Amino acid sequence: MIEKKGVVAVILTIGDELLIGQTIDTNSAWMATALNHAGIAVRRRVAVGDDWDAIWTALTEEGKSSDIVLITGGLGPTSDDITKPLLCSFFGGEMITDKGALDNVVEIFSKKLNRPLLERNLKQADVPDNCRVIPNKRGTAPGMWFEKEGTIYVSMPGVPHEMKGMMTDDVIPELKKRFDVSPVQHRTLLTAGIGESFLAERLLDFEAALPKGIKLAYLPNYGMVRLRLTAAGAKDVEAMIDHQFEQLKSLVKEHLVIDQDLTLQETVAQMLLTKNKTLAIAESCTGGYISHLFTLLPGSSAYYLGGIVSYSNALKIDLLGVDPAIIEQFGAVSIETVSQMADGIRKKTGADFSIATSGIMGPSGETAQKQIGFVCVAFSSKEHTSTTTFQFRFDRQRNIELTAAHALDFLRKNMG
Ligand code: AMP
Ligand code: MG
Repeated sequence: MIEKKGVVAVILTIGDELLIGQTIDTNSAWMATALNHAGIAVRRRVAVGDDWDAIWTALTEEGKSSDIVLITGGLGPTSDDITKPLLCSFFGGEMITDKGALDNVVEIFSKKLNRPLLERNLKQADVPDNCRVIPNKRGTAPGMWFEKEGTIYVSMPGVPHEMKGMMTDDVIPELKKRFDVSPVQHRTLLTAGIGESFLAERLLDFEAALPKGIKLAYLPNYGMVRLRLTAAGAKDVEAMIDHQFEQLKSLVKEHLVIDQDLTLQETVAQMLLTKNKTLAIAESCTGGYISHLFTLLPGSSAYYLGGIVSYSNALKIDLLGVDPAIIEQFGAVSIETVSQMADGIRKKTGADFSIATSGIMGPSGETAQKQIGFVCVAFSSKEHTSTTTFQFRFDRQRNIELTAAHALDFLRKNMG
């Protein structure tokens, strides 16, 4: 067991696709979170192409100043993937066939893929003889664990779910065994209806009085601000951070959405489940996006009944029962129309609660009275129907995301 305060890791992602922006480097973000939870600080994230010199230099440089270098990418069976021969050469090994990895490749091809096995697929089972092989239960490329001059290097496939499997099953548990690290403590809450600058003003004294080692972070997103307290270190840190968190909660209490690290849709989902209520959604300008946010959550069928994407006036009238005269008089983007949409979807589905959206997302569609980013949202329950409007000032994509976030917050407030 290496007793070290502040173990540092570097994440090295490899692939030409990362440098041209074709693939977003989600592996780094995921690995950083996993390492952080394990109490291992990430010092740097580096991305390089499938280029011998660039990978070699990165390994040399990053290895010097860190305890752990986690690598993904470049392990495929094609000629553009060069990570494995490079690692073999870097660590001075000889390529051998690993029996376990070979059995895995054969099994995947014979049982799951039902495709002929090519020589290049068999090569996936070759590994340098000086690494520990990390089994890949989800694919053909094995992971490889090397050690050199006190630094651990772990190479994993670029395919996200294969990397995640190896990290979870093998790499993180192994690193925890090897290093005596205390996990990082996080306490997170979500606020709505107050900008980060105003929050910062309000929390000036609180922040200045925070004990050494506890840090406050502001994470604004879609008009909501997440506040996170972080501390690493000894066991008594937990009580200290809990005490500070209680103070923080009381300082922001009228804007507090939830005192957990949850998204707004997760918060709303939790409220619906607690109240044992159901939801239906009528979406015009958000095109099903809000429904998608719910259906991404496991178990959403317990409260989310469904929705109608009524983009055209005809569908608003035919499927939701909106009065054509209302659309004629006030327009499709009006509080009158969204309130009928919300009532319509609630009655049609039998849901306890409903919301509806209609707005001008841009870049065209502006009228003399209604600018781009103008949005109407309605909430409906058996007891009441409420409406609100917003004026966003961003591009189409962001206007849609902001509409969704604010509609969810409106739902949260109205369901009481
Ligand atoms: P490779 O191991 O280089 O053959 O990568 C296989 C696939 O995994 C690539 O085609 C990418 O789609 C994906 N991938 C590679 N690196 C990353 C990364 N850093 N983040 C997310 N996906 C990745
Ligand atoms: Mg690649």
